Amino acid sequence: MSVHVIDEANRCLQCPNPRCRENGCPIHTNIPEMIRLFKENRMMEAAQMLFENNPLSMVCSLVCNHGNQCEGNCVRGIKGEPIHISSIENYISDSCFERLELNPAPSNGMKAAVIGAGPAGITIAIILALKGYSITVFETHDKIGGILRYGIPEFRLPKSILDRYYKKMRELGIKFRPNFSVGGSTGIQDLLDDGYKSVFIGTGAWKPKRLGVPGETFGNVFYAINYLNNPDVYELGDRVAIIGAGNAAMDVARTAIRHGSKEVVVYVRGDSVGASEAEYEYAKVDGVKFEFRKAIVRIEDDGAVFSDMEPDEEKIAASKAKGEELKKTPFKVIPNSEHLIPADSIIIAISQVPQDRLVNHDKDLKLNEKGNLATDSKGETSLPGVFASGDVVTGAKTVVAAVAVSKQIAEDMDKYMKNKD
Ligand code: SF4
Repeated sequence: MSVHVIDEANRCLQCPNPRCRENGCPIHTNIPEMIRLFKENRMMEAAQMLFENNPLSMVCSLVCNHGNQCEGNCVRGIKGEPIHISSIENYISDSCFERLELNPAPSNGMKAAVIGAGPAGITIAIILALKGYSITVFETHDKIGGILRYGIPEFRLPKSILDRYYKKMRELGIKFRPNFSVGGSTGIQDLLDDGYKSVFIGTGAWKPKRLGVPGETFGNVFYAINYLNNPDVYELGDRVAIIGAGNAAMDVARTAIRHGSKEVVVYVRGDSVGASEAEYEYAKVDGVKFEFRKAIVRIEDDGAVFSDMEPDEEKIAASKAKGEELKKTPFKVIPNSEHLIPADSIIIAISQVPQDRLVNHDKDLKLNEKGNLATDSKGETSLPGVFASGDVVTGAKTVVAAVAVSKQIAEDMDKYMKNKD
């Protein structure tokens, strides 16, 4: 093991006001308590507590941006190295998962439907099944996981973890309808007519955002979300240009390198990447190259045309004059700097938005101003009894954010169904 979790646990100061939990963790995992139980050889209790607070603890211990969250806030990090909290959490959650004792409440006779088996859907299904509801999950793909399975590469999140979740969910009596898209032959109203007391929509954000430049439909251009879905079927060639510099772009770049591409370059408009520090560093270690101050202009059959960028001094001066602090340096195109950079494939990784299949089918489902599903403060959509959370509501966000919101929505769905009964 690369990190010695016992040594790490022994370094924890058991802070009375733990910054790791209060400031750092979006789902307020009780980190000092987890470490205390672990050190007292009470690992099953620690695992139980982790699962009850966050059913996707095992996943989050691998894919969260810990450097910005728990570990980035650990008091030990002020003068030295923070506690490697993620490794401790992963060790506990992984080794105890099969032994977790799930004691669902007796059946309450009510059915709820969950559309989408991504992070939000899995969370809602598990919480409601534990409360005694009969849950059916409808999933477009053949397996569960959503973005976890079809958007995060194996080297970051082994798919076997999702298979273990599937088994656990089946043990809870959760039923699955794989390869089935609600919004095709069947709509939400059909589910309500069939007696589901409430419906949860967690269909994620799968529609790639377009760049809006000429050449985007050419045969050498692919979108990150499509590529990550099944990289084996793509023949990218030796030279790959990636447009976009967030975490998905890093996943694409590192996957392309692992699939044999020799020159993988991420083109960035400004001077910094949007990806987390850890993902950026790993990409560089893997051999990914970065070209800064490049704005894509158009795509051609043999590569992409970029303009060079420079800091927009006028805008910077204007902000200074107004006393405004700029969060990011504004950049502008340097005139007449267009140049072709040869590439065999171009991958566009500038985020995703929700598909509109459900909205097209159920016209009463309203969207917000960003084009995502509109919900009220309780997560209820414009259709009574129909709730939603995760990327379909917020646009592409983190796994832990989807779980944290979904936990609250599961409670609201529970209240709604009990009041209605
Ligand atoms: Fe332990 Fe660091 Fe959390 Fe303090 S902030 S309880 S040292 S993990």
